[in-house]
Order: sequence, then C-alpha cells, then structure tokens
Amino acid sequence: MKKAIGFIGLGNMGLPMSKNLVDSGFEVFGVDRNQEAVAKFHQAGGKIGQSIVETTKRCELFFTSLPSSQIVEEIYLGKDGLLENSRPGMIFIDTSTVAPETNRKLEAAAKERGVGFLAAPVSGGVIGAVNRTLTFMVGGSRQAYEIALPIIKELGQNIFHVSEDIDSGTKAKLINNLLIGFYTAGVSEALLLAKQSNLDLEQLFDMLSVSYGQSRIYERNYKSFIAQDDYEPGFALKLLNKDLGFALDLAGESQLDLPVSQFLYSVYEAVEKSGLGEKDMSVLYKKLQEQTNTTFEKRGS
Ligand code: NAD
Repeated sequence: MKKAIGFIGLGNMGLPMSKNLVDSGFEVFGVDRNQEAVAKFHQAGGKIGQSIVETTKRCELFFTSLPSSQIVEEIYLGKDGLLENSRPGMIFIDTSTVAPETNRKLEAAAKERGVGFLAAPVSGGVIGAVNRTLTFMVGGSRQAYEIALPIIKELGQNIFHVSEDIDSGTKAKLINNLLIGFYTAGVSEALLLAKQSNLDLEQLFDMLSVSYGQSRIYERNYKSFIAQDDYEPGFALKLLNKDLGFALDLAGESQLDLPVSQFLYSVYEAVEKSGLGEKDMSVLYKKLQEQTNTTFEKRGS
C-alpha cells in the first residue's frame, strides 16, 4: 500500500489534482471548508479528512492548494494547523500561488519543526490539473524535493526545481502570471476590435494560430470561454489580480518601475471591483465589450 497523502483545498485545481492521486493508487485524505467540494472528492474515491488535526495523524505528506497567502498562513501556522501537528520527517508541498514572504515564513516555521517544506506553484490551469500536464516551479530543499518528486510526477509533466531558495519557484510563477495578465488583456482588446471590424472570430483564430499573434492564452481564453460565452472559472480573475499585485510588489522590492504592468493591474482591479472577480479572467473581454469607455484608476492612486 502506498503512503497516505493529505490534500487541503479541493477547489478548481485541488480537486482534479487530488483525484489524480487517488487514481494513481494513493490513499488520499481531502480537507476543504466547502462541503460540496469534499462530497465531489469523496465520490471520486477520496477519503474525507475530518480535520487538519485528525488528517496529520494519518498522513506523512501533504499538498495544499489554497486561494490566498492569508489562508495558506492560517492553515500552516494557525492553532490546530498543519505545522503545529506535524512530526519530524513529514513533507508539505504548497502548490498555491502566494506572496514570496509567505513562502519564507512557512519555511522558517517548518525548519523549527524538523519537517520538509516546498513552495511549488503550478501553471497549466484546470485542464493541466485534470490531464496531469501541469508545470511545477519548485523552490526549497533539494532533499525534500527528491523525496517528493515521484509523487509530484503523478500530477505534472514539467517539474522544475528552480533553486533551494524557497521563494524561487514563486518568483518564476509570478512572472508567468504577469505575462498571462498581458496576454489576457491583449486577447480581449484584439478580439473586441476584430468583432467590431466584422471579422469571423473562428477564421481569425485559425489564421492567428499559425501566425505570431498565436499564444496559449489566446487559445485558452478564446476557445474555452469567449467562444462559448461562458465565464465560469477556470482561473478566477481575482486570483490573477492577486498574482499581479504580488508581481508588482516584487518589482517594488527591487526598485523597479513597471508602468505598463501597473496600468494592467488597475484594469483588472476595476473589473474585480465591478463584481466579476469570481469569473474566469477571460471575462475581461466581456467587460470591455460592455463598457468600452471605462477609465481605469492607476494602482495606488
Ligand atoms: P479555488 O478557489 O477554486 O479553490 C480553493 C479551495 O480552497 C476552495 O475549494 C476553498 O473552499 C478552499 N479553502 C479556502 N479556505 C479554506 C480553509 N481555510 N480550509 C480548507 N479549505 C479552504 O482556487 P483554485 O483556482 O483551485 O486555485 C488554488 C490556488 O492555485 C491559488 O493559489 C491559485 O492562484 C493557484 N492556481 C490556480 C490556477 C487555475 O487555473 N485555477 C492555475 C494555477 C495556479
């Protein structure tokens, strides 16, 4: 029998990832505050983790997939959290995208407890989580990485150990998501212009897919969301916005001024504030279509 694995956060990413571990023959205990998510996981053959305290007694290795730095810190550092209930030798892998500072805090606390901790954000979206094709950008101890690698390989196709600096994978991931922010905005405005110019969006997609205008985000946002006029996530716009904020904070730490990125952030922030944060990031297209004359505030002003 393979070792039992704990999985905290059974959302858009965590649910397919945890299901894949079940399908690979692991005994997986899932925890989520949303009972609907827990029920879906249970239906797929997962075991219900009654609480973090109870689940840490059963499992030696944990994955987390959570929506914010604050929640990740609560789950790891809080009373009745993962680290308080850990035993030396356990390994924790956080696949959430969080602030680099959160990675550093968690690593320091994990060291004190004698447990391994990897900050391992992922890219590739829900489809990548379902198809086990995720890219993992892992920061942290090489030793913990070597132990976790065979299990991470069950979830992803391209696994990179960026460096032993705990926040190195996160920094790479934030740069990835900064580009996603640009591509999503570019696709939204370009397709809006195409539509206003009476171009057939399907034909345009076929042409640009073999031209330099092609991108994986164009394919994703157009085919799965804009062409379907369906904006259920996916990758919630508020999560992209969180990552753009972290990327700008990272730039700020290095006294780097990124004026175009700042403006981009203000665009997404305005869309989130208008109530569309829970929708897929591609909803920017829809929002711009409805509200072409919006003036967006600059970040921080
Ligand atoms: P999500 O909101 O769909 O899932 C998060 C899950 O965590 C939810 O089921 C929620 O109920 C659960 N949760 C929240 N607080 C909890 C708590 N205190 N205890 C237990 N469970 C709790 O988010 P997602 O899209 O799955 O993203 C998860 C992480 O992965 C985020 O950090 C995101 O930035 C990152 N990510 C997402 C995508 C994507 O395409 N969706 C791609 C790459 C990375």
